[in-house]
Amino acid sequence: MNIANNLNNIQSQLPEHVTLVAVSKTKPISALMEAYDAGQRIFGENKIQEMAEKHEAMPKDVKWHMIGHVQRNKVKYMAAFVSMIHGVESLKLLEEINKQAMKHDRVIDCLLQIKIASEDSKFGMSPEEASALLQSKAYAECNNVNIVGVMGMATFTNDEDQIKREFDKLKATFDHLKGLSGQLHTVSMGMSGDYQLAIASGSTMIRVGSSIFGSRNHTH
Ligand SMILES: *Cc1c(COP(=O)(O)O)cnc(C)c1O
Repeated sequence: MNIANNLNNIQSQLPEHVTLVAVSKTKPISALMEAYDAGQRIFGENKIQEMAEKHEAMPKDVKWHMIGHVQRNKVKYMAAFVSMIHGVESLKLLEEINKQAMKHDRVIDCLLQIKIASEDSKFGMSPEEASALLQSKAYAECNNVNIVGVMGMATFTNDEDQIKREFDKLKATFDHLKGLSGQLHTVSMGMSGDYQLAIASGSTMIRVGSSIFGSRNHTH
């Protein structure tokens, strides 16, 4: 696994409007530093404690993205430094992020996670719930969070037509929400196995792990 080569290879395929989040969950600092030395600055993690430990160990110009499911009682451990939270799927969570961000005098960028997959195991809001949240008085009163887009995960399947339909649904949801709030600019969709499909469907941010760092021993 040559991390620098993998990164350069992926970066060279990306249109300019697509941002690469290097998903480094379960990987050691030495692997992250190889990516950092190759120029990568945005890293994605799915466990808050692991991200906080890596934040301590890594150079301070790294931008940390929380891409996993977020428990409300743990938001406080990342509020001081996290740069974007991809998995916001309720007003309650958004309000907790707002409260913790306020303590640090920060505004945290958030993405609304939309459920596009057919699997019950995937988290996320319906497009209708997302649109209601975006227009709610409660969100209008949150001054320390900024909803900047949407995130979604396609069904784990080899059926490319189904994956494409799900990505198209997320992009359509984004376009609708953007009509309600001009602030929106990010569509986070696409992983190692499907990022080309995601980009063709309008992704502006891909989250790639194993194609950069190699396969993980255990998924979580
Ligand atoms: C692990 C993970 C990824 C990266 O997956 P790969 O298949 O290794 O590229 C992307 N998004 C989320 C939400 C993840 O948990």
